[in-house]
Amino acid sequence: MKFTDMELSSELLEGISALGFEIPTPVQGEVMPFLLGSRRDMVALAQTGTGKTAAFGLPILQRLRLDDATPQALILCPTRELCMQIARDLRNFSSCLPKVKVLAVYGGADIRPQLASLSHGVQIVVATPGRMVDLLRRKKADFSRIERVVLDEADEMLNMGFEEDLETILSNVPDEAQTLLFSATMPREVAKIAHKYMDKPEEITVGTRNAGAENVVHEVVVVHAKDRYRALRRIVDVSPDMYGIVFCRTRSETQQVADKLGKEGYNAEPLHGDLSQQQRDRVMKAFRERQVQILVATDVAARGLDVNDLTHVINYNLPDDLNSYTHRSGRTGRAGKEGISISIIHMREHYKVQRIEKALGKKFRERRVPTGDEIIRVRLMNLAEKVRDCKVVTGPVDNHIDEFCSILEDLSVEEVIKRFISIQLHHAINYYRSAPDLNEEPERHESRGSRKPGRDDRERHDGGKRMPSMVELVMNVGRTNGLTPKKLISLLNVADRDSSVDVGRINIVNMQAYFEVPRADAQGVIDSITRSHLDMGGRKVGVAIAGNTRGRPAQSRGPNRPGPSSFPRKRQIEKRNKKQKRRSGS
Ligand code: AMP
Repeated sequence: MKFTDMELSSELLEGISALGFEIPTPVQGEVMPFLLGSRRDMVALAQTGTGKTAAFGLPILQRLRLDDATPQALILCPTRELCMQIARDLRNFSSCLPKVKVLAVYGGADIRPQLASLSHGVQIVVATPGRMVDLLRRKKADFSRIERVVLDEADEMLNMGFEEDLETILSNVPDEAQTLLFSATMPREVAKIAHKYMDKPEEITVGTRNAGAENVVHEVVVVHAKDRYRALRRIVDVSPDMYGIVFCRTRSETQQVADKLGKEGYNAEPLHGDLSQQQRDRVMKAFRERQVQILVATDVAARGLDVNDLTHVINYNLPDDLNSYTHRSGRTGRAGKEGISISIIHMREHYKVQRIEKALGKKFRERRVPTGDEIIRVRLMNLAEKVRDCKVVTGPVDNHIDEFCSILEDLSVEEVIKRFISIQLHHAINYYRSAPDLNEEPERHESRGSRKPGRDDRERHDGGKRMPSMVELVMNVGRTNGLTPKKLISLLNVADRDSSVDVGRINIVNMQAYFEVPRADAQGVIDSITRSHLDMGGRKVGVAIAGNTRGRPAQSRGPNRPGPSSFPRKRQIEKRNKKQKRRSGS
């Protein structure tokens, strides 16, 4: 179906064609023919960003009595920003109909100009519920000729506590007015409003109930809670062309994250309720115009912000309710474009993801926090593409290029490239030089792969960080017994030929060796070493959990088990070594 197949005036067709609308979106294809042909109430389950405004706006404009300057349609929405956006859209759709008067009335702004505009005559009022009730109380709004009432983002309005205001408004419009309700989700409270104020409404569902936008990929990264910010940084760093919103739970967290990003050179701004309306307007304008790349926002402050083409939504913290998740992720993947919603969680929040998955009917894709090396690679390739596609500036540069080149003439092309890269990516290269892996591994290990200590282990050494799911074991033989990392690995392989274990950080001291294995494999390693009666430089090899001299696993106990004195704590050894050094020095 095309717009031209619908009963729309040539002026409206011209108006939307100027906006580039050619084919109706699914919600428009469903809702518009119904509204153009029927006066019955309607409930539409539709996500944000699906073209809802035109779906109800065009039929409203089509039916407007242009010579009558009293309000004929009332559109209620949750926020000032959405209110202004809807009014702007309606004005754009009716750009060829100069007699159409649309007024946005919302809180947080001087009421006097709004009252003045209302008294000059308008046909469509777009309002936030609180301000609308205010106007009604002042008896400044004549609703006697209202024919259509739209409740846009009804679930959000109820979430924000506007239930009472909605009831007041709805009881002030004529009974015969057609009521249209749009909601991304259908919680009980919305169904209650629909039941109370609507007469056998037509139900239209576009997409699945409660489902996020179809073309949104939901991803999750699992990190230690203290690594949340570092994980966010890496996600941003690996997506150089990101244009997105980072959702936080509280105003202070929003401010902190935005401040940190700002200090570290990211183009990020906060948006939350502690900012003045003026500050919020400035930030939203800058974000809309893409002067700001990353908006760090609370759910409430971001409501109604209509920005298209978001590449990413990042949940710095998962929201407690599904509605908020749906609204957040609905801000990406708009107008047919693919979007990504990434949630940063820690191990104990898996249940939240499962709850959302169940309600959405969609699986989250588990994604790893990128390593430093991956980030550097992406940044390099991005830079290469930028260089390749860059439009070369001429003019003033040409006058100095020879002199410029003469300074570099002793360098090879490769050297010059490397130096430009160093200048361009200096910060990222230094930051990620020995960055640790941030991924929190699941406790269960379905498959156990053999691995020699390699580069990753060295990176972990450098970073000085133990993989969160690894546990440190101590072996009662060390350098004096001829133990090397290679020999340690082969001891483990000899002890258990049937399975292979990932070995993390290895630290061999004179009489002991410390090494990491996945927590899930620790007991198996202890058991197999104990069973194998291995010998190293004349000493029977024993192993236990490091720093666990008292509560050592029972399996390692036996006639030949290493006694407590064989397993001093690492700190004790260091202390003893220091003492010995001091003594020998004196
Ligand atoms: P909405 O859900 O009304 O906020 O619309 C989301 C975005 O899609 C807005 O930027 C609209 O301008 C755009 N849009 C709505 N309908 C169409 C259409 N039929 N063709 C192209 N873009 C559209």
